[in-house]
Amino acid sequence: MRVLLLDRARFPREKPCSEYLSPESTRVLERLGKDVLAAVTAASPAQLTGMKVVAPSGTGVVGRFETFSFALPRTRFDTILLNAAQTRGVEVREGVKVEELVYERGAVGGVVARDTGHGTRETLRARVVVGADGLRSVVARRLGMVHTAGPRRIAFTAHVADVQGVDDLGEMHVGRPGYVGLGPIGEGVTTVALVVPFAEAHRGDRFFAELNRFPAIAGRFDPRRLVRRVLATGPFARWSRRPVATGGGALLVGDAADFFDPFTGQGIYSALRGAELAAAAIVDTLATGASLRQYASARRREFTGKWLLERMIGIAVGWPALIERVVGRMLRRPELADLLVRATGNCIPARAVLTPRVLAGLVL
Ligand SMILES: Cc1cc2nc3c(=O)[nH]c(=O)nc-3n(C[C@H](O)[C@H](O)[C@H](O)COP(=O)(O)OP(=O)(O)OC[C@H]3O[C@@H](n4cnc5c(N)ncnc54)[C@H](O)[C@@H]3O)c2cc1C
Repeated sequence: MRVLLLDRARFPREKPCSEYLSPESTRVLERLGKDVLAAVTAASPAQLTGMKVVAPSGTGVVGRFETFSFALPRTRFDTILLNAAQTRGVEVREGVKVEELVYERGAVGGVVARDTGHGTRETLRARVVVGADGLRSVVARRLGMVHTAGPRRIAFTAHVADVQGVDDLGEMHVGRPGYVGLGPIGEGVTTVALVVPFAEAHRGDRFFAELNRFPAIAGRFDPRRLVRRVLATGPFARWSRRPVATGGGALLVGDAADFFDPFTGQGIYSALRGAELAAAAIVDTLATGASLRQYASARRREFTGKWLLERMIGIAVGWPALIERVVGRMLRRPELADLLVRATGNCIPARAVLTPRVLAGLVL
């Protein structure tokens, strides 16, 4: 296949994210090639062995992975992926923004893109267009496939050095309102994300003061140790009813296809795994003429349980009393904390949690 990759950014580029790769992402990196995994390992990532979930009262519970996950700045991780694509023969053009889709006989047949430097526009033809353009995907919008879903939240993310009490865990602190996710990303730096309801977006203006309202975080940050500015993103959630264009010729992957809420930290894995499914469908379509729609069914088979679990957790974190209860239940039964953390880390299927017995154990 001849692949042309267009990105409006120039790399390394920043991305608002908590920058934790769920443990199962390591398997995808292995499949991408030994050089990819070696480059990630050489980038001094933090290695997380589990997640701590802290209720609004400050009570916390730890769930452990069986393995570990990497966490590293997106400036480094995404550049490694870009280089890997280039090494494999992908033509990469940075600073090129996709603005429109072009159609041929009812199917998507390419894009109109603008060079963000010169301002020149050109039409680029392709047998398949992959919309991997994130939360505000222009491809999804032009295809009319964007739907918004509650709860609508906005995130503010920063890098802070020398945060007290950070070890080998990611931490999720639920508050009233919103939540904070934090974790090490290597070299003494902690990534911190404050997520609040969209209607409360003004809270992002006083980022560090907001962190202090979470009891198990208060006082752990020195605002003078901010090493990367605060980036904002949102509102989420959004999803596409169908990840394949009705007339064919285009599909969506990653956040362009769906993004509900960052609490479970599954977005990078979903983007990587979704890309594997997309690649398989595209190769089959180009080789045999089979419909791209097989990609939609492959996604359903792969992600339905995960979507459900992610949605349930996303809604639950907006309900502090419920989180208090679930954390209390997990403290009494630590095996449930491990189960939940492993399911959200994609180490075990989401359906392992979605049983009446486990759900009852978590809330009753
Ligand atoms: C606060 C927060 C914390 C998160 N924490 C985690 C976490 O810890 N772990 C995790 O797994 N996930 C996390 N996520 C989710 C994760 O960031 C995303 O799911 C993931 O980045 C999706 O990858 P993507 O390639 O689909 O999109 P992106 O990473 O957004 O990449 C999209 C690319 O498309 C380019 N682009 C956009 N528009 C155009 C255009 N018109 N033309 C050309 N190029 C364009 C952009 O420049 C960008 O490079 C978090 C998200 C948020 C908001």
